[in-house]
Amino acid sequence: MPSDPSFRLYNTLTNTVEPVVPREPGHLRFYACGPTVYAYAHIGNFRSFLTADLILRTAQALGWRTTYVTNITDVGHLTEDDLSDPSGEDRMMKALRSKEGQRFANIWDLARFYTQALLEDWRTLNLREPDVRPRATEHVAQQIRAIEQLVRQGHAYETRQGVYFHVPSFPDYGKLSGNREAGQLDRAVRDVVVDPEKRDPRDFALWKKDEKHLMQWYSPWGWGFPGWHIECSVMAMAYLGEELDLHTGGEDNIFPHHECEIAQSESLTGRPFARHWVHTRFLQVEGEKMSKSAGNFFTVRELVRPEHEGGRGVDPLALRMALIAGHYRQPYNFTLQTLKASLKHVERFREAAANVEAALEAGRPGEDRLGSRLEALYTQALAALCDDLNTPEAIARTLEGTRLILGFKEHLNAASARSARAWMERMNALLGILAPEHEAPPAHAPDPFAEQVEALLREREAARKARDFARADALRDELTALGIEVMDTPEGPRWRKKTRL
Ligand code: AMP
Ligand code: ZN
Repeated sequence: MPSDPSFRLYNTLTNTVEPVVPREPGHLRFYACGPTVYAYAHIGNFRSFLTADLILRTAQALGWRTTYVTNITDVGHLTEDDLSDPSGEDRMMKALRSKEGQRFANIWDLARFYTQALLEDWRTLNLREPDVRPRATEHVAQQIRAIEQLVRQGHAYETRQGVYFHVPSFPDYGKLSGNREAGQLDRAVRDVVVDPEKRDPRDFALWKKDEKHLMQWYSPWGWGFPGWHIECSVMAMAYLGEELDLHTGGEDNIFPHHECEIAQSESLTGRPFARHWVHTRFLQVEGEKMSKSAGNFFTVRELVRPEHEGGRGVDPLALRMALIAGHYRQPYNFTLQTLKASLKHVERFREAAANVEAALEAGRPGEDRLGSRLEALYTQALAALCDDLNTPEAIARTLEGTRLILGFKEHLNAASARSARAWMERMNALLGILAPEHEAPPAHAPDPFAEQVEALLREREAARKARDFARADALRDELTALGIEVMDTPEGPRWRKKTRL
């Protein structure tokens, strides 16, 4: 099938909405920046991953072939975005030293644990699997080769602390973000270890020499580890070739991460790296930036875990729907209200699906009274997604079709029900909000925090039984200090994390 020029997306590189034109007609090759696996991914991360998922689904609905690569960053991503910690420490190392990290025997176990958790959350939210999910730690040899080549080409140089990309060697630097001058680059300055031998404040690290780092590799520059930016360039080109059709990430990736990816990749190959750059605006919760201290920070599992396990028992489909309900280029405010509305809609999808199954079983004769109307709604929903991923519009068409199906109540005939079933399947392939697509995800790996809370609760119950009320109160205080709210119910104590949602 030829490339359909009507699939249009905003391109950060050109600041316009323009057609997605795969280099090989009808075959979209794209890369999405994946998570740094130092903690559970939060719902903001998933807003960005969902943009990539919807691009994938739209391309597939158009009949295109897709090669979709999204990585796991398990080394080298520093804390540079964290204003309170400008020291540029590896996030993985920092996580290992934290209270939660101490239960891991080593940094590799920590990476494995959060990678597994990510894969579970991915399936829970109905995201389609990528063709390749490369890990940075498994591509270090290729990264070393790329850095060696950049040094040979005169784009990079070595100091006593590491190897840097020399920004003035790439005149196009700044073409994505507009940040060209050193004065605009305070974030880039924080991005690197402060090194007096750096030749330009904008130069960023490709390799860090560090004999104490818990993940280290031997390189022509001694022991150390790669920088975050080179990881993505190398993994993207390893699986997609030197020229990508499209590259995605969250808005914070525009600078410095993607600007640096462009500089390295285009210096290596002399060709345009990715033609289309798509960035998702940040998700906020109840009108504010998500942060642990503000009590409005949510991981997927906190929301979907059953209530008796301290979660909020949110239906994963409703969570997915709430996360895509806003247009990806608008700042999005995630609220309890949107979540409740999504839940109502998901319940209606289920009701419609049940009516359809009952009608198929009953087998009432009659003409198909739904097929052509539903087909038109599908076409409109696909057109909406092709129009810069207009998810609110596509969801509205889904609700309209559901209303039509439900309008027949128990009078749905078999022919109409067959059309309805086919339509629901196609709509689900497009948006992933009508029914789970994966087999039930495996039981979640035990959550150490939940285990700690439950142990304290058990101890408190035992103290109460033994009428040791002073001890029971002390344990309750300990739970409060952990930010846990305990509700005593006839079935025993229930708990949940205090939040503002
Ligand atoms: P990280 O794990 O920090 O490397 O982030 C993984 C992806 O999530 C990146 O593409 C980020 O840009 C994106 N991201 C982080 N926070 C948010 C947020 N609040 N809303 C949307 N995307 C986000
Ligand atoms: Zn990346």
